[in-house]
Amino acid sequence: MDFREKLMVRPGHKVKLKDYDPDETFGFKKDNESEALTAKSTARLDELQYILYAENRRALLIMLQAMDCGGKDGTIRHVMSGANPQGCKVTSFKVPSSEEAAHDFLWRYHKAVPARGEIGIFNRSPYEQVLVVRVHKLLPKKEWSAAYEQINMMERFLAENDVTILKFFLHISKDEQKRRFQQRIDEPEKHWKLSPADFAERQYWDDYIAAYEAALSRCSTKYAPWFIIPANKKWFRNLAVSRIIAETLESMNLKFPKPAIDLPKKVPE
Ligand code: ATP
Ligand code: MG
Repeated sequence: MDFREKLMVRPGHKVKLKDYDPDETFGFKKDNESEALTAKSTARLDELQYILYAENRRALLIMLQAMDCGGKDGTIRHVMSGANPQGCKVTSFKVPSSEEAAHDFLWRYHKAVPARGEIGIFNRSPYEQVLVVRVHKLLPKKEWSAAYEQINMMERFLAENDVTILKFFLHISKDEQKRRFQQRIDEPEKHWKLSPADFAERQYWDDYIAAYEAALSRCSTKYAPWFIIPANKKWFRNLAVSRIIAETLESMNLKFPKPAIDLPKKVPE
């Protein structure tokens, strides 16, 4: 299956999330076969990251968004498990610091864009400006509604400057979120993950869904596509994300650079 083709939001398509089943696995099962495919994709991703780094001309930027418990951390851990840390940078975006808040909203994201040769992962992204900010009315509508086009423009600018962009929305159901919260309550090693805001945010589920639908509909472009990943099943989520990243790196036609010297047959004495 061509995961990119299947899971990409067509530019201009008006997304209704109820049309996307978070339990979907497209006929794949949790068996040796799908496990082997995930392992193959992550291994390929690691090989291609090595060439990306050696080539030192282009960057890959991956943005992850999800509801609480959606699995952003787990995805990063699994998918990048074999990557060379030297060429890989993960940045998590929280409530803006006073320095970040003193700048335009895109400033902190632009600063974290991966350099040539690197893979950069954004745990949360500029889309917070049209998600949490919209849902909680942290800014007047005039300001957050301008952000869709502003983000599109920034992404286009980056794409024209050798940054390949992939955006993943990890789609879980409200029931699955409840199960995962319950696990966090039941397992002492997961207590630290709970924050007071989590249960309060759950009350805003429908508003978040509407906000995600707007972002997915207005900001999936050829140069920076959104992918909706069915994420109730963690094994499928890991399979889909690792396939899409590997397929994308594959299509970049990465090349080792020419040697910087005329190669002698033997090391000179
Ligand atoms: P985990 O999933 O492990 O809980 P997290 O990404 O949720 O990690 P937290 O520290 O729990 O990390 O939450 C970060 C918070 O920052 C989120 O509630 C998010 O909505 C908020 N946030 C991110 N960007 C912005 C922004 N631009 N304005 C206001 N709040 C923001
Ligand atoms: Mg959180």
